[in-house]
Amino acid sequence: MTLQRTERIHTVLSIAGFDGSGGAGIQADTKTVSALGCYAMNVLTALPVQNTQGVRTIYDIPTQAVQDQLETIFDDIYPDSIKIGMVHSVALVRCIANFLRDYKGSIVFDPVMVSTSGHRLIQEETIQACIEELFPLATLITPNLDEVSVLVNSNITTLEQMAMAGTKILSLGSKAVLVKGGHLESDVLTNVLVQVDAETKQYSSARIDTQNTHGSGCTLSSAIASYLSQGILLEPAVEMGLHYVYQAIAESSQIRIGQGNGPLNH
Ligand code: PLP
Repeated sequence: MTLQRTERIHTVLSIAGFDGSGGAGIQADTKTVSALGCYAMNVLTALPVQNTQGVRTIYDIPTQAVQDQLETIFDDIYPDSIKIGMVHSVALVRCIANFLRDYKGSIVFDPVMVSTSGHRLIQEETIQACIEELFPLATLITPNLDEVSVLVNSNITTLEQMAMAGTKILSLGSKAVLVKGGHLESDVLTNVLVQVDAETKQYSSARIDTQNTHGSGCTLSSAIASYLSQGILLEPAVEMGLHYVYQAIAESSQIRIGQGNGPLNH
């Protein structure tokens, strides 16, 4: 006799771009969510043609196609949490924000702007639309220092500036901001979590000397979304997400995949 399994598995939807070379975007999200024992789903927002060396071009996904993907998944499965990554046009921001307006789970928004290889992944006018439409829906946003600099319109070179910038970004409407310090020049890597109605927290770790970090931002945001989907509170979810990425980078640091910034092996 076959046993029927009716256990509940937590579901995580990533609304993000494509990386056929397997390191970033929905590929990183799916690997991360699965590795953390959740069920991974995707809505594709853009088709960047890329490898570990860089993005060659970006093909658009029509807004209607994104709307249809969202409707089809929600008609069948209500995600426990959502990660939003690359959303490069105003029309897509509006489509996603309108659709998620009444969504009840946690949303982690990684405001992806420029790839490690220096390719722009967002149109200039989309940044304001993200601030107005997606920040207020987000449980957490996870900008890196380059994205923070764009959002607060000044260069960030110290930890104090990171915390101040986080507070400024928080005032734009999300419930929490994790300012990622990976791009700060220092031996110790520090990330700063700024929240509404809670103390600012810092998470520090040693810096791993490797160029294999392609997709680390995608991995972090989907790891945090996975932990949140399991009912874990924000602070431990952030801490566990950072630990997951640290481990993944540590395990990938000596691996050679591709000729550019290698992916995380997880
Ligand atoms: N491609 C997609 C679809 C992404 O979402 C991102 C970043 O989030 C990248 C490429 C760039 O990744 P990285 O900057 O880690 O190389």
